[in-house]
Amino acid sequence: MGMVTTPDTLALIGNTPLVRLRGPSEETGCDIFAKCEFTNPGASVKDRAALFIVEDAEERGTLRPGGTIVDGTAGNTGIGLALVANAKGYRTIIVMPETQSREKMDTLRALGAELVLVPAAPYSSPCHFVHTSRRIAEETPGAIWADQFDNTANRRAHIMGTAEEIWAQMEGRIDGFTCAAGTGGTIAGVGLGLKAKDEGVCIALTDPDGAALYDYYAHGELKATGSSVAEGIGQGRITANLEGAPIDTQFRVSDVEGYGWVRRLLDEEGLCLGLSSGINVAGAVRLARQLGPGKRIATILCDTGFRYLSTLHDPAWRAAKRLG
Ligand code: PMP
Repeated sequence: MGMVTTPDTLALIGNTPLVRLRGPSEETGCDIFAKCEFTNPGASVKDRAALFIVEDAEERGTLRPGGTIVDGTAGNTGIGLALVANAKGYRTIIVMPETQSREKMDTLRALGAELVLVPAAPYSSPCHFVHTSRRIAEETPGAIWADQFDNTANRRAHIMGTAEEIWAQMEGRIDGFTCAAGTGGTIAGVGLGLKAKDEGVCIALTDPDGAALYDYYAHGELKATGSSVAEGIGQGRITANLEGAPIDTQFRVSDVEGYGWVRRLLDEEGLCLGLSSGINVAGAVRLARQLGPGKRIATILCDTGFRYLSTLHDPAWRAAKRLG
């Protein structure tokens, strides 16, 4: 590939490279490929959803020049929304649980987003970050609520972007795809997009230990039993983005197993990633074992590990979380 120029910052979103992961491929006898979503300008997969949500609101006429974008987020969507907003001349108000990494908060402040931190609370509580963000949007003149969980412009970004890119990059030869769910936009959108190309592609949900979706897809029961320390994944309900997601099979991966892959990819392949990426790679290895040798599998590297230097990549933090 020659040197590439892009017309503006927003054109940097998407069209991410697909890398063959050597260790996971050698270990399973499959070819395991991963989308490098950390190469987006906001360093995560959520830039895609942010751009689609904002442009959808512009097209509908709900977001007008000088308007404000409000959302509740584990951080990455907020960073995506803030960078898209800056490039287009909007304000952002981001509501985030105070349990998320310091680096995400500092990045949001650097981007000029107004940051509202709330205590971690169950979805049923009115204090939950999603409900708080909806209220702030309702009370702020000229504001829209991005509503990333139930706004299906989110998954359209993956049907029209991520899935098309994976299909083209793998030259239509793909046997399986897996990733975890936060809003569910990635798994549902990529799943729907790939199934539209080839019904036979196996779509697997990889759920962090103790999250509710594994049981839902395995036996129709939504019940969360534990808490992963992975930021941005682990969903307790069927969001509008998850509705109709074509899930063929599901895996449950512990934080320790996910971190094992984060560590190996760092030490053996020079990739510094977050825990959701490690959990996705662990899921891809499970899917490879299920489908058998010689298969071609894709997954997602959701965000950069530089976002977790004070947490996942800090030995003292890992010791406190018993992550080895
Ligand atoms: N990993 C990280 C680090 C995230 O921030 C998110 C978004 N919440 C995801 C994975 C999951 O992506 P999605 O919302 O598309 O399910």
